[in-house]
Amino acid sequence: MHCQTLVLGAGIVGVSTALHLQARGRQVILLDRDDPGTGTSHGNAGLIERSSVIPYAFPRQFGALLRYGLNRQPDVRYSVLHLPKAAPWLLRYWQQSAPGRLAGAAADMLPLVQRSVEEHDALVQAAGLEGLIQAKGWIEVYRDPVLFQQAKAELKGLARYGLQYQILERGQLQACEHQLDSTVVGGIHWLDPKTVTNPGALTRGYAALFVQRGGQFVHGDARSLRQVDGRWQVDSQRGLITAEEVVACLGPQSGDLFERLGYRIPLGIKRGYHMHYSTREGAQLLHAICDTQGGYVLAPMARGVRLTTGIEFAASDAPGNEIQLKRCEALARKLFPALGERLDDKPWLGRRPCLPDMRPVIGPAPRHKGLWFNFGHAHHGLTLGPVSGRLVAELLTGERPFTDPAPYSAARFD
Ligand SMILES: Cc1cc2nc3c(=O)[nH]c(=O)nc-3n(C[C@H](O)[C@H](O)[C@H](O)COP(=O)(O)OP(=O)(O)OC[C@H]3O[C@@H](n4cnc5c(N)ncnc54)[C@H](O)[C@@H]3O)c2cc1C
Repeated sequence: MHCQTLVLGAGIVGVSTALHLQARGRQVILLDRDDPGTGTSHGNAGLIERSSVIPYAFPRQFGALLRYGLNRQPDVRYSVLHLPKAAPWLLRYWQQSAPGRLAGAAADMLPLVQRSVEEHDALVQAAGLEGLIQAKGWIEVYRDPVLFQQAKAELKGLARYGLQYQILERGQLQACEHQLDSTVVGGIHWLDPKTVTNPGALTRGYAALFVQRGGQFVHGDARSLRQVDGRWQVDSQRGLITAEEVVACLGPQSGDLFERLGYRIPLGIKRGYHMHYSTREGAQLLHAICDTQGGYVLAPMARGVRLTTGIEFAASDAPGNEIQLKRCEALARKLFPALGERLDDKPWLGRRPCLPDMRPVIGPAPRHKGLWFNFGHAHHGLTLGPVSGRLVAELLTGERPFTDPAPYSAARFD
């Protein structure tokens, strides 16, 4: 099999990249070792997060560091055994989270975040997936009045981004989400984002659109990639594939490829879990809710209410640990007392692919002609898949890119 462009990885980033290349006339093969949308893109919280204009930073306040150091928080947990290995990466992340640098990261990410909803809208419409999308935004809720006041005060700092939101005092929040516990003091309803009731199905729907438009999806192992006489080759279940160019979109497993090719890109992993629940007596959760103090999201999904946890620092391949989910579940049962039985046999474990400077890697591989990267979308890969697919496709085909790609260049680590 031969193609012009081979896309490795069929998560939301790879599938979107394949669609954007195809739309620019490239003959594309999409390869994954599993079916599309079964990796990280399957299990996330489903937020197309147009309102997250400031990346998730490492905490800098002494009190917060002390709290996290005790390792009892629901939102962030770490494996003590993994800490020595993770320490250099965490140090870089901490350095990059200094206020000035964080502002730089926010400015660099804004062009991508701003276009995220419209890029999804176009693909959703083309693929006929409107049934998976809700345009109700999501609600950040507060159980502590002091933190709620602080959050309201901090909204002033976001004024220049023109985000649409509504502050919900206790009664207004109850009117919006009548099954929430009455002790919740209030919330902020972010109105620009959209939500997805089945992120894996959305990714598979985009992949089906790619195939319907004449693209080919094949199973194979990206680690077999090699360059022979200036062409790229990979082994697949349908035989040898050769290609002029390759775009590597392997999400959290990207290191399996770039390390073999000699790149030292500091890709870190923030793990996270999900579990689905029934609701009691026909109660409904109407919006995706983020309990800010617990760092988890409760979202109404196709399979039930999905609880997704915050961050766990542990070796990527270490067995799952239920502590964090249990802590969040206990809080969620207080927040939303109608939360019923667990519906999954065991928690799903996902891996957010993260760079310490909070920007993804999008663009050409510095030392290999015809090799391109698109990975490292951290907390917002579902949000940014289509827009970063557009950017890499524009760069690869020589089109004028919609934004300056320099901040995402792999060369910043070379
Ligand atoms: C708990 C949790 C909640 C989240 N919530 C949100 C959210 O609400 N909104 C949001 O925008 N983002 C969210 N994210 C982040 C988002 O899910 C990820 O950033 C995104 O899914 C990454 O997409 P990807 O395509 O890069 O990776 P993946 O979806 O993991 O895709 C990578 C693909 O590469 C394939 N692959 C890997 N190695 C090989 C190989 N050797 N050969 C062939 N194929 C290979 C895998 O099978 C996989 O299909 C969340 C993440 C977690 C963990």
